[in-house]
Amino acid sequence: MSSKLFICPYNAAHVMKITKAHHHVVNCRKANAHKNFVICSYNALHHYAPEDEAKHLETCSERIALIAATHVAYGMKSVVSGNLTMPPAAQLQFDDEDNWDSD
Ligand SMILES: [Zn+2]
Ligand SMILES: [Zn+2]
Repeated sequence: MSSKLFICPYNAAHVMKITKAHHHVVNCRKANAHKNFVICSYNALHHYAPEDEAKHLETCSERIALIAATHVAYGMKSVVSGNLTMPPAAQLQFDDEDNWDSD
């Protein structure tokens, strides 16, 4: 994890630690403004040429991870909605005062 390196999309000779990448791509983007690179909506570190957009979205690891996470979130949601049937049961118990006091 600590050895993760970032290769600048503007110049493959720019190799740095991922922790320096954000600062670098911002500066490198300014220096290469004429290229009109697109910033990936899934990861601000993914910059690519407009003509490479389709290719990038196909292979973008963040996009693939997000889709996987969304599937997990939907799975969680169905579990939560299943639990929503519990409050009415608790209300019924609260209504039954005699039973609650005798406990
Ligand atoms: Zn660079
Ligand atoms: Zn991306």
